[in-house]
Parts: sequence; structure tokens; C-alpha cells
Amino acid sequence: MKLIDSSTGEEFEETNLDIAYREVFPGAIYSAQNANGEIVKYRATELEVEERRAVLIPIDPNSHTFTIPETDLEVKQLELLAEPKIVALSIPGAELKLSLVWGEIKTLVTGYKLCIKQYELSCTRSSCRSYHQPLSGKFCPTCGSKLKRIELITVVDEVDFRLPYCTEYKTPVVKVEVNSVATNIICREVQHLKTKIQREIPEIPPVYAALWESSPVTIALHSIGHQIIFAVPLVILSSSLDLNYLVVEQEETVGYFYDAVADGNGCSEAVFHQFGKFARSAAALARNCSCEAGCPKCLYMHSCLQDNQSLNKPIGLSILEAVGE
Ligand SMILES: [Zn+2]
Ligand SMILES: [Zn+2]
Ligand SMILES: [Zn+2]
Repeated sequence: MKLIDSSTGEEFEETNLDIAYREVFPGAIYSAQNANGEIVKYRATELEVEERRAVLIPIDPNSHTFTIPETDLEVKQLELLAEPKIVALSIPGAELKLSLVWGEIKTLVTGYKLCIKQYELSCTRSSCRSYHQPLSGKFCPTCGSKLKRIELITVVDEVDFRLPYCTEYKTPVVKVEVNSVATNIICREVQHLKTKIQREIPEIPPVYAALWESSPVTIALHSIGHQIIFAVPLVILSSSLDLNYLVVEQEETVGYFYDAVADGNGCSEAVFHQFGKFARSAAALARNCSCEAGCPKCLYMHSCLQDNQSLNKPIGLSILEAVGE
């Protein structure tokens, strides 16, 4: 897909269809860098799939509005490619189960949220009902603590597309499951970390918010997925962009690694066959990163299909370190 600047008629970037559907759908706010390295912003107006082009109008680069696509991802398991593998963790009875399957990945962009980022007064006590709600005055009406000016995101509009933008392809997938013993350990670990943070820091920093907002298994699975993707170039001759990851919460919460291209590129298979090696490299990367709870060098990824939610470095790291072999 060619991205066209409507003010000049020139192409300024090229991207694949998958990313175009998520980032330059009609109405999307799109940020890019110009030739001088400055941030420029656009609003996408047309997405011409047949012509392989998207048209974007430049907008004020200081605009605080942005869009979040509403996506739906489905991973369908078509057939087993190998006998599932059990990965024992260092705690007795705790296990991960890996299954290599031939799967179908379907991505639907069904609409978007138009949001605005603003600084507003709010309560920063995590246990308070008014936590991170826009408030006014000097003190929180609920808990009485002093209000602070923080960055808040407000949704100003929600748009549903009449027809969703859909892509699908078939490729190898690695399904990651945790057994009940591992689940219990993860829950205990998250609880332990929450208690520790609450004891040490009176206001929960945003980087730790996931611990209060998501389920422990989702945090653990999402974090190890990202951490392993960061380790891809250390283990095999591929880039982190060649492998995708998704956590699905159904009756059971599971993670899926899948190759970023149709018919596969070997990444998922490598993760399945060399999981121990990936886990060790991923653990080393995370440990050696100087951040505390996760940063764009070791945990957050622009390509994350789940908005980098439910992530926590120490929780992921503790699982990776428990992988034996
Ligand atoms: Zn409060
Ligand atoms: Zn980091
Ligand atoms: Zn992710």
C-alpha cells in the first residue's frame, strides 16, 4: 500500500495491507517522520484497496487526538504439525504446553476510537474508586487525597465500519498453555508484586497499572510472548517483525506465536523446537535492560496487536527464568 500525502500528491511511505488496515483506515490519525526527522501527523481519508493506496491529509503535528483501531483477531487451528511438547518449569508440577499447529489467522478491523490525550486533575490512589477519573478541585471527593495533574485519555468518538477490513492467511502457529500449578504460581507472584509496590510506592505508576487491570495469566503469557519476540534475532537469523503474538482469553487463556507471513518463515517452528534457548535469551535481554517494569527496548512493541496492554517485565521474566532445559 502506498501512503499518499494529499497536499503534495506524493507517496511518503509504503506499508503492507495488514498494517494499512490497522493504521490508515478512513478516519485514522497517522503519525510519521518527515525527511528532517520531525513528527508529522495526518488524517487518513481514503483507503483504496484495489489501487493499493491510502490518501492522507496533513494535520497539526501538535494535535493531541489519536485513533485506536478496534480489531478482532481469530486464530483457527487447522491441524497439528508435531506432537505437543511439555516444558517443565523449575517449580514442581508447573508446566507450559506447546503445540505446533497449522493455523489460519484472521484480522478484522471493525472500527475505531477517536481519543484525545489531555492533562487533567485526578486521584492517583490506586485503591480509590475515582482513580484516574477526571476530577476538579484540590482534593479527591471520594478518598480525600490531594489531586495531581496527570495524562488522561478520553474517548471522544467511537466509529463502527459498515464492513470490517479483513485479512486472512495460513501459517504455522505455536499455542502456549499453562497448567493449573503454573497458574497458581503466577497468581501468587502477581499478588506478591502488587503488595510490594503498594508498600513501597503510595501512587501506582502507570507502568504497573496492568497488575490491577488484567488477569495474572494474561499478564504472564503476554509478557513472555513479547520478551521472546525481542529475542528472535539473537536465536535465529530473523527479525522481531517476522513473528507475531497474541493472547486469547476464552475458557482458558492461551498465547499464540504465529509467523508474520502466509505459509510461514520458520520463526514459530524455531520457537517450538528451541523454546529453552529462546527463553534463556529472552530472560537475559529482559534482565540486562536497565528499566524496572518494562520499556520499548525489552517489552513494549509498536507491532503489538493488543495495544501493549497486560504487560509486566518481572512477571514475564520469572516464567522465562523458570524454564529449564
Ligand atoms: Zn481518591
Ligand atoms: Zn527495558
Ligand atoms: Zn502484544
